[in-house]
Amino acid sequence: MFCPKCGSEQEDLVLKCKKCGENLENYSQSGEPKEVKISNYLVQSILVTLCCCIPLGIPAIVYAAQVNSKVQAGDVYGALDSSKKAKMWCWIAFGCGLTANAVYLIFTILAAVAGSSGM
Ligand SMILES: [Zn+2]
Repeated sequence: MFCPKCGSEQEDLVLKCKKCGENLENYSQSGEPKEVKISNYLVQSILVTLCCCIPLGIPAIVYAAQVNSKVQAGDVYGALDSSKKAKMWCWIAFGCGLTANAVYLIFTILAAVAGSSGM
């Protein structure tokens, strides 16, 4: 397990952190938070939309926006589902953006090479 306060690694059965002295008795051994936290991927969605691929980033933003409203409505399963879809679209947009940038880079290099050899 890891100390929740300073993040240093602890032996499994210690009651106090060796480093900062934080009492570890109150924390479960697995370190799992009791409250359900669902990432909404909104920041990532906006970033991939702006930096990578606008048409593929839009569904990511739409799903990301659904996560918080579903959590507020108490629909944990729906929120998890939207979170997964937002993550998936983030990766798709990121992958496409990366591919497009790589292709652009290759063409730029090819153009530069062709231009310099033609001189
Ligand atoms: Zn500590």
